[in-house]
Amino acid sequence: MASAAVFWDRDRTLIEDPGYISSRDQVRLLPGAAEALKRVSAAGFENIIATNQSGIARGLLDEPTLESIHERLRELLAAEGASIDAIYYCPYLPGDEAVVEAYRQDSDLRKPRPGMLLKASLERKIDLAGSWCIGDSLRDAQAGRAAGCRTVIIEPDPAARAELRRRKEVDFTVTSLSEAVDAVLNHSRSSSARTETIPGTDTGETLQEILSFLRMVDRRQQTVDVSLPAIVGMLFQVLAFVALIWAVFGFLNADRFSEPMLRILFTIALQLVAMTFFLISSRR
Ligand SMILES: [Mg+2]
Repeated sequence: MASAAVFWDRDRTLIEDPGYISSRDQVRLLPGAAEALKRVSAAGFENIIATNQSGIARGLLDEPTLESIHERLRELLAAEGASIDAIYYCPYLPGDEAVVEAYRQDSDLRKPRPGMLLKASLERKIDLAGSWCIGDSLRDAQAGRAAGCRTVIIEPDPAARAELRRRKEVDFTVTSLSEAVDAVLNHSRSSSARTETIPGTDTGETLQEILSFLRMVDRRQQTVDVSLPAIVGMLFQVLAFVALIWAVFGFLNADRFSEPMLRILFTIALQLVAMTFFLISSRR
Protein backbone atom coordinates (compact mmCIF):
# COMPACT_ATOMS: atom_id res chain seq x y z
CA MET A 1 0.00 0.00 0.00
CA ALA A 2 1.51 3.32 -1.03
CA SER A 3 1.78 6.08 1.53
CA ALA A 4 2.25 9.74 0.96
CA ALA A 5 5.09 11.56 2.67
CA VAL A 6 6.19 14.98 3.68
CA PHE A 7 9.81 15.40 2.65
CA TRP A 8 11.40 17.83 5.08
CA ASP A 9 14.50 19.86 4.55
CA ARG A 10 16.63 19.72 7.70
CA ASP A 11 18.69 22.89 8.24
CA ARG A 12 16.76 26.11 8.83
CA THR A 13 13.55 24.14 8.41
CA LEU A 14 13.46 21.73 11.36
CA ILE A 15 16.67 22.67 13.17
CA GLU A 16 18.77 25.81 13.56
CA ASP A 17 21.43 26.33 10.92
CA PRO A 18 24.64 27.76 12.34
CA GLY A 19 26.40 26.65 9.11
CA TYR A 20 27.57 23.07 8.58
CA ILE A 21 26.61 21.42 11.85
CA SER A 22 29.48 19.09 12.66
CA SER A 23 28.68 17.94 16.19
CA ARG A 24 25.63 16.47 17.93
CA ASP A 25 25.86 19.25 20.56
CA GLN A 26 24.95 21.84 17.92
CA VAL A 27 21.52 20.35 17.19
CA ARG A 28 18.72 22.72 18.23
CA LEU A 29 15.11 22.16 17.19
CA LEU A 30 13.38 25.17 15.68
CA PRO A 31 10.23 26.30 17.50
CA GLY A 32 7.21 24.24 16.40
CA ALA A 33 9.26 21.49 14.72
CA ALA A 34 8.05 18.63 16.91
CA GLU A 35 4.45 19.84 16.76
CA ALA A 36 4.60 20.08 12.95
CA LEU A 37 5.93 16.53 12.63
CA LYS A 38 3.26 15.21 14.99
CA ARG A 39 0.45 16.84 13.01
CA VAL A 40 1.83 15.42 9.76
CA SER A 41 2.11 11.92 11.27
CA ALA A 42 -1.40 12.12 12.69
CA ALA A 43 -2.71 12.87 9.19
CA GLY A 44 -1.14 9.62 7.94
CA PHE A 45 1.90 11.02 6.14
CA GLU A 46 5.39 9.66 6.61
CA ASN A 47 7.91 12.20 7.88
CA ILE A 48 11.07 11.91 5.79
CA ILE A 49 14.06 14.22 5.96
CA ALA A 50 15.96 14.86 2.71
CA THR A 51 19.04 16.96 3.37
CA ASN A 52 22.11 18.07 1.42
CA GLN A 53 25.15 17.44 3.61
CA SER A 54 28.03 18.72 1.54
CA GLY A 55 29.93 19.29 4.79
CA ILE A 56 31.02 15.67 4.38
CA ALA A 57 32.55 16.33 0.95
CA ARG A 58 34.06 19.54 2.33
CA GLY A 59 35.83 17.52 5.03
CA LEU A 60 33.97 19.21 7.91
CA LEU A 61 32.43 16.01 9.26
CA ASP A 62 32.28 12.32 8.41
CA GLU A 63 29.32 10.01 7.97
CA PRO A 64 29.49 8.45 11.48
CA THR A 65 29.38 11.99 12.93
CA LEU A 66 26.37 12.79 10.75
CA GLU A 67 24.68 9.62 12.03
CA SER A 68 25.25 10.77 15.62
CA ILE A 69 23.84 14.22 14.77
CA HIS A 70 20.72 12.54 13.42
CA GLU A 71 20.55 10.33 16.47
CA ARG A 72 20.54 13.48 18.59
CA LEU A 73 17.83 14.97 16.40
CA ARG A 74 15.67 11.87 16.91
CA GLU A 75 16.26 12.05 20.69
CA LEU A 76 15.17 15.70 20.88
CA LEU A 77 12.06 14.95 18.84
CA ALA A 78 11.22 11.85 20.88
CA ALA A 79 11.37 13.96 24.05
CA GLU A 80 8.49 15.98 22.57
CA GLY A 81 6.60 12.94 21.31
CA ALA A 82 7.52 13.34 17.63
CA SER A 83 9.42 11.08 15.25
CA ILE A 84 11.02 10.86 11.84
CA ASP A 85 10.35 7.80 9.66
CA ALA A 86 13.51 8.05 7.55
CA ILE A 87 16.44 10.35 6.85
CA TYR A 88 18.10 10.61 3.44
CA TYR A 89 21.18 12.74 2.96
CA CYS A 90 23.50 13.65 0.11
CA PRO A 91 27.17 13.82 1.15
CA TYR A 92 28.40 14.71 -2.36
CA LEU A 93 29.53 17.97 -3.92
CA PRO A 94 31.07 18.64 -7.34
CA GLY A 95 34.10 20.86 -7.85
CA ASP A 96 37.15 21.97 -5.94
CA GLU A 97 35.32 22.78 -2.70
CA ALA A 98 34.94 19.03 -2.21
CA VAL A 99 38.27 18.28 -0.57
CA VAL A 100 37.39 14.65 0.19
CA GLU A 101 37.87 12.95 -3.14
CA ALA A 102 35.54 10.05 -2.38
CA TYR A 103 32.65 12.52 -2.15
CA ARG A 104 33.62 14.82 -5.04
CA GLN A 105 30.92 14.16 -7.60
CA ASP A 106 27.92 15.68 -9.31
CA SER A 107 25.17 13.58 -7.74
CA ASP A 108 21.51 13.24 -8.65
CA LEU A 109 20.85 12.96 -4.92
CA ARG A 110 21.84 16.56 -4.31
CA LYS A 111 18.96 19.02 -4.26
CA PRO A 112 17.71 20.74 -6.46
CA ARG A 113 17.75 17.32 -8.13
CA PRO A 114 15.08 14.88 -6.94
CA GLY A 115 17.29 11.81 -6.32
CA MET A 116 16.74 11.54 -2.57
CA LEU A 117 12.97 11.77 -2.98
CA LEU A 118 12.92 9.23 -5.80
CA LYS A 119 15.10 6.86 -3.80
CA ALA A 120 12.79 7.16 -0.80
CA SER A 121 9.80 6.60 -3.06
CA LEU A 122 11.25 3.34 -4.37
CA GLU A 123 12.49 2.06 -1.03
CA ARG A 124 9.41 2.99 1.00
CA LYS A 125 6.66 2.79 -1.65
CA ILE A 126 5.85 6.50 -1.42
CA ASP A 127 3.16 7.96 -3.64
CA LEU A 128 5.03 11.04 -4.85
CA ALA A 129 2.00 12.70 -6.43
CA GLY A 130 0.29 12.74 -3.05
CA SER A 131 3.44 13.87 -1.24
CA TRP A 132 4.85 17.24 -0.26
CA CYS A 133 8.26 18.83 0.03
CA ILE A 134 8.77 21.49 2.72
CA GLY A 135 11.91 23.58 2.99
CA ASP A 136 13.40 27.03 3.32
CA SER A 137 15.04 27.46 -0.08
CA LEU A 138 14.13 27.36 -3.73
CA ARG A 139 16.19 24.24 -4.33
CA ASP A 140 13.96 22.33 -1.89
CA ALA A 141 10.96 23.25 -4.03
CA GLN A 142 12.85 22.43 -7.23
CA ALA A 143 13.68 18.95 -5.94
CA GLY A 144 10.09 18.44 -4.80
CA ARG A 145 8.61 19.58 -8.09
CA ALA A 146 11.04 17.47 -10.11
CA ALA A 147 9.86 14.43 -8.11
CA GLY A 148 6.20 15.29 -8.81
CA CYS A 149 5.38 16.49 -5.27
CA ARG A 150 3.69 19.67 -4.16
CA THR A 151 5.94 22.20 -2.49
CA VAL A 152 5.90 24.63 0.42
CA ILE A 153 8.64 27.13 1.25
CA ILE A 154 8.90 28.69 4.72
CA GLU A 155 10.22 32.23 4.41
CA PRO A 156 9.51 34.88 7.07
CA ASP A 157 10.88 37.77 5.00
CA PRO A 158 8.06 39.36 2.93
CA ALA A 159 10.27 40.48 0.03
CA ALA A 160 11.96 37.09 -0.29
CA ARG A 161 8.55 35.44 -0.05
CA ALA A 162 7.18 37.57 -2.87
CA GLU A 163 10.16 36.59 -5.01
CA LEU A 164 9.64 32.88 -4.28
CA ARG A 165 5.96 33.14 -5.09
CA ARG A 166 6.84 34.00 -8.67
CA ARG A 167 8.64 30.67 -9.14
CA LYS A 168 6.62 27.93 -10.78
CA GLU A 169 8.26 25.27 -8.57
CA VAL A 170 6.78 26.83 -5.42
CA ASP A 171 3.15 25.95 -4.72
CA PHE A 172 2.85 27.72 -1.34
CA THR A 173 4.93 30.23 0.58
CA VAL A 174 4.35 30.51 4.31
CA THR A 175 5.92 32.21 7.29
CA SER A 176 6.11 29.37 9.82
CA LEU A 177 6.22 25.62 10.29
CA SER A 178 2.63 25.53 11.52
CA GLU A 179 1.44 27.38 8.40
CA ALA A 180 3.40 24.91 6.26
CA VAL A 181 1.53 22.02 7.86
CA ASP A 182 -1.76 23.91 7.42
CA ALA A 183 -1.03 24.14 3.68
CA VAL A 184 -0.37 20.39 3.48
CA LEU A 185 -3.43 19.37 5.44
CA ASN A 186 -5.79 21.84 3.76
CA HIS A 187 -4.76 20.91 0.24
CA SER A 188 -4.33 17.16 0.41
CA ARG A 189 -6.78 14.96 -1.40
CA SER A 190 -8.33 13.58 1.75
CA SER A 191 -7.92 13.78 5.49
CA SER A 192 -5.80 10.65 5.38
CA ALA A 193 -2.57 10.55 3.40
CA ARG A 194 -2.79 6.83 2.93
CA THR A 195 -3.62 6.22 -0.68
CA GLU A 196 -6.58 3.95 -1.17
CA THR A 197 -5.40 0.74 -2.73
CA ILE A 198 -7.54 -1.33 -5.00
CA PRO A 199 -7.98 -4.81 -3.40
CA GLY A 200 -6.09 -7.62 -5.10
CA THR A 201 -2.53 -7.01 -3.88
CA ASP A 202 -0.28 -7.11 -6.95
CA THR A 203 -2.84 -5.86 -9.45
CA GLY A 204 -3.94 -3.19 -6.98
CA GLU A 205 -0.40 -1.99 -6.43
CA THR A 206 0.34 -1.91 -10.14
CA LEU A 207 -2.80 0.10 -10.81
CA GLN A 208 -1.87 2.39 -7.94
CA GLU A 209 1.56 3.03 -9.45
CA ILE A 210 -0.03 3.79 -12.82
CA LEU A 211 -2.46 6.20 -11.13
CA SER A 212 0.42 7.92 -9.31
CA PHE A 213 2.32 8.26 -12.56
CA LEU A 214 -0.70 9.68 -14.38
CA ARG A 215 -1.31 12.18 -11.57
CA MET A 216 2.32 13.25 -11.81
CA VAL A 217 2.14 13.64 -15.58
CA ASP A 218 -1.14 15.50 -15.23
CA ARG A 219 0.40 17.94 -12.75
CA ARG A 220 3.39 18.57 -14.97
CA GLN A 221 1.45 18.94 -18.19
CA GLN A 222 -1.69 20.86 -17.44
CA THR A 223 -1.75 22.31 -20.93
CA VAL A 224 -4.07 21.22 -23.72
CA ASP A 225 -2.30 19.94 -26.81
CA VAL A 226 -3.13 22.53 -29.48
CA SER A 227 -0.36 21.60 -31.91
CA LEU A 228 -1.16 21.62 -35.65
CA PRO A 229 -1.02 17.79 -36.02
CA ALA A 230 -3.44 17.45 -33.08
CA ILE A 231 -5.88 19.91 -34.66
CA VAL A 232 -5.67 18.17 -38.06
CA GLY A 233 -6.11 14.83 -36.28
CA MET A 234 -9.25 16.09 -34.56
CA LEU A 235 -10.60 17.39 -37.88
CA PHE A 236 -10.13 14.00 -39.54
CA GLN A 237 -11.63 12.31 -36.48
CA VAL A 238 -14.81 14.37 -36.90
CA LEU A 239 -14.89 13.58 -40.65
CA ALA A 240 -14.45 9.88 -39.89
CA PHE A 241 -17.38 10.01 -37.49
CA VAL A 242 -19.60 11.76 -40.06
CA ALA A 243 -18.55 9.24 -42.72
CA LEU A 244 -19.46 6.38 -40.38
CA ILE A 245 -22.98 7.75 -39.95
CA TRP A 246 -23.18 8.20 -43.74
CA ALA A 247 -22.13 4.56 -44.20
CA VAL A 248 -24.69 3.27 -41.66
CA PHE A 249 -27.48 5.12 -43.48
CA GLY A 250 -26.16 3.61 -46.68
CA PHE A 251 -26.57 0.10 -45.25
CA LEU A 252 -30.08 0.85 -44.04
CA ASN A 253 -31.30 2.19 -47.38
CA ALA A 254 -29.29 0.28 -49.96
CA ASP A 255 -30.38 -2.65 -52.10
CA ARG A 256 -26.79 -3.42 -52.98
CA PHE A 257 -24.01 -3.46 -50.47
CA SER A 258 -21.19 -2.32 -52.70
CA GLU A 259 -21.80 1.40 -52.21
CA PRO A 260 -22.11 1.40 -48.38
CA MET A 261 -19.05 -0.86 -48.25
CA LEU A 262 -17.15 1.81 -50.15
CA ARG A 263 -18.37 4.34 -47.56
CA ILE A 264 -17.07 2.11 -44.77
CA LEU A 265 -13.66 1.89 -46.48
CA PHE A 266 -13.70 5.68 -46.80
CA THR A 267 -14.47 5.93 -43.05
CA ILE A 268 -11.58 3.61 -42.21
CA ALA A 269 -9.25 5.68 -44.40
CA LEU A 270 -10.28 8.90 -42.61
CA GLN A 271 -9.82 7.22 -39.21
CA LEU A 272 -6.33 6.07 -40.16
CA VAL A 273 -5.39 9.58 -41.23
CA ALA A 274 -6.72 10.96 -37.91
CA MET A 275 -4.72 8.37 -35.95
CA THR A 276 -1.60 9.19 -37.90
CA PHE A 277 -1.85 12.85 -36.98
CA PHE A 278 -2.57 11.99 -33.33
CA LEU A 279 0.54 9.81 -33.34
CA ILE A 280 2.61 12.64 -34.81
CA SER A 281 1.32 15.09 -32.19
CA SER A 282 2.02 12.67 -29.30
CA ARG A 283 5.66 12.21 -30.39
CA ARG A 284 6.48 15.89 -30.57
MG1 LIG B 1 17.60 24.47 4.54
